[in-house]
Amino acid sequence: MNGELAIYVHIPFCARKCSYCDFNAYAGADDLVAPFVASVLEEIGRAPEGGRPLRSVFFGGGTPTFLSACDLTLILNAIRRKFAVDSDIEITCEANPTSSDVEKFLALRESGFNRISIGVQSFHPRLLSIAERDHSPAEAIGAVEAARSAGFSNVSIDLIFGLPTQTRQEWEETLERAVSLQTEHLSLYALTIEPGTRFERLHRGRKLTLPDEETELWMYEHAIRRLTQAGFEHYEVSNFAKPGFSSRHNRVYWLNEEYLGFGPGAVSYLRGRRWTNEKHPLRYIRKVQAREDLCTDSEVLDACAALGETLMVGLRLREGVSLSRLQDRFQMDALEVYRDQIEKLMRQGLLEREGDRLRLTYRGLLLANTALMEFV
Ligand code: SF4
Repeated sequence: MNGELAIYVHIPFCARKCSYCDFNAYAGADDLVAPFVASVLEEIGRAPEGGRPLRSVFFGGGTPTFLSACDLTLILNAIRRKFAVDSDIEITCEANPTSSDVEKFLALRESGFNRISIGVQSFHPRLLSIAERDHSPAEAIGAVEAARSAGFSNVSIDLIFGLPTQTRQEWEETLERAVSLQTEHLSLYALTIEPGTRFERLHRGRKLTLPDEETELWMYEHAIRRLTQAGFEHYEVSNFAKPGFSSRHNRVYWLNEEYLGFGPGAVSYLRGRRWTNEKHPLRYIRKVQAREDLCTDSEVLDACAALGETLMVGLRLREGVSLSRLQDRFQMDALEVYRDQIEKLMRQGLLEREGDRLRLTYRGLLLANTALMEFV
């Protein structure tokens, strides 16, 4: 593959750690910010594939807006110097309500960011407090309004359903509030209890009351109905967009195309090899300073494994995968190589074929996470 490349920059800082979060994110590490920025600039300067055209840039975390607009601009400018960045590519910055204001968003817009993705999770103070989010519903709404005032015409918000003790009515209200904000994009995630999180400790001690499976399924199906009715396209298992506003960056992951990641724990996928950077910010900084290899984990995927992965991620898209494109790319017939898995999912009514395309059925969509594990 030699076409356009996507770039991901991982900003590993947060004001505080949320109860459900197992991302590579650290609270109370303010003194690492300056050396981190210097290191990530250094890493970008040394990156392979210099001059290659980019499809998208995504600053994620952690909380990218924990950094000043000036630091974020420095990093974006380093990417511009290293790669070929067209003016119309998608450049996203994730943001948290408490580190977002009009001034910061104005500076980001001026420096070339054109998409903001805000972590909202819920519009209920009770649930925000259970999840140990550091903002109120009003601050989340204020962040969306600040992005608008700063001129962002592509705004996304993230919501979580299945939070402890969350009721159907609370989820309905959160969705209504989200619809009323008229953002172009919404990502909805079902809560999962991840190892090492506060929620996991509470869950082990039987101190967490989670909605039952039926309620969680109802929440997902209600969201599909309500958002579709409000003009959103349900284009991926967890993602909804107004026409023309699906995430171009995430599409690179769903199509299993090439990307480079910078920063602690960032993953890259290039020329059939996938590798992960040193995860801890301090060790990452030390390794960059000592010019040591940042990679802690690397694998080369053979064509068969790469085909399986491409099916697994591609089937998350509602449009499904094109069998002829898979054939062209891998020189293999997916229906032959993964015959058992595909037939099993079809028998279960989770997968369907329509001409050249293989896609999840509606039932498959509801069970996507387990169904797609067949291709691992
Ligand atoms: S703000 Fe996001 S990355 Fe940071 S702890 Fe919360 S969920 Fe995790």
